[in-house]
Amino acid sequence: MRRHWAHRLAWLPALLLLTGAAPPPAAFDLVALGVNGGVEEPTSAYHITARGASSGVMCDVGTLAGGMDQARRRGRYPRAASREAVMASISAYLVTHAHLDHVAGLVLASPNDTKKDILALPAVNQALADHYFNWTTWPNMGDRGASPRLGQYHYRDLEPGGPPTPMAGTGMSVTAYRLSHGGATSTAFLLESPSGALLCLGDTGPDAVEGSKNLNELWRAVAPLVRQGRLRGILIEASYPDPVPDARLYGHLTPSWLDKELQVLRRLVGDDARMKALPILVTHIKPSQGSPSSREAIGRQLKDLGFFHYILLEQGRDYAL
Ligand SMILES: [Zn+2]
Repeated sequence: MRRHWAHRLAWLPALLLLTGAAPPPAAFDLVALGVNGGVEEPTSAYHITARGASSGVMCDVGTLAGGMDQARRRGRYPRAASREAVMASISAYLVTHAHLDHVAGLVLASPNDTKKDILALPAVNQALADHYFNWTTWPNMGDRGASPRLGQYHYRDLEPGGPPTPMAGTGMSVTAYRLSHGGATSTAFLLESPSGALLCLGDTGPDAVEGSKNLNELWRAVAPLVRQGRLRGILIEASYPDPVPDARLYGHLTPSWLDKELQVLRRLVGDDARMKALPILVTHIKPSQGSPSSREAIGRQLKDLGFFHYILLEQGRDYAL
């Protein structure tokens, strides 16, 4: 599971030490199982493991088995590891919101899955129990809602803003923060291990368009972690390239809105060197047919905006953070 380019470049930290610019060792491994937003599969799904831990978590599960098979073919998991073994190494699902492109993989793989926790805000867990695991759209694999309850999944409701909830076996705790997504509730998950923190955001619109303070409150909560150099990355969406009229954002971000929101965080952090070094992992790009593709356009627009360290997540790749 942990065959990374970082290992292939094992000499790099030593070299950087000599130049006095050594980054801290990676605290998390992330495999991008799905990076698309809607229409084209595989959609939003990120397998996150704290370094040294035996099991990890998924932040959103738009794809599971399909995305995992792609990543396995690309050598992101040990050659001998079966799909079942990789799935069994996941101990919890963190679900940002109940839209299909964030949960389809969980539902479809559930008959072949092992016991796990589903951690989410109460409204999101309720939506999973009411609309998917209800014996009408799918058997009730959960421990809530329509009888009989098969109990493979244990819903755990998270209180917005904390306190951090430990996740057994993962070496991580999680705190949920509310996001506004076209009026619907979405979630940002702050994962913390003894060596660092990682922020995984679900779909979100900008505060100014959503008439919300949710992103502002999230930035206030994580600014101290950026200042301390503890935050290893922010995984966040940019669904469409600019320009999009505000009325047609439907609870999403474009590069210019992403930049505006990160400028809020930058002011709160007050340390440009830290902000510049922080990886901003951009995902949930809605595919387009035209030329240039949305992905190319978003990449170019983010580059033109400059300042922040943007990385467009790639399908089936792994990242040491
Ligand atoms: Zn959504």
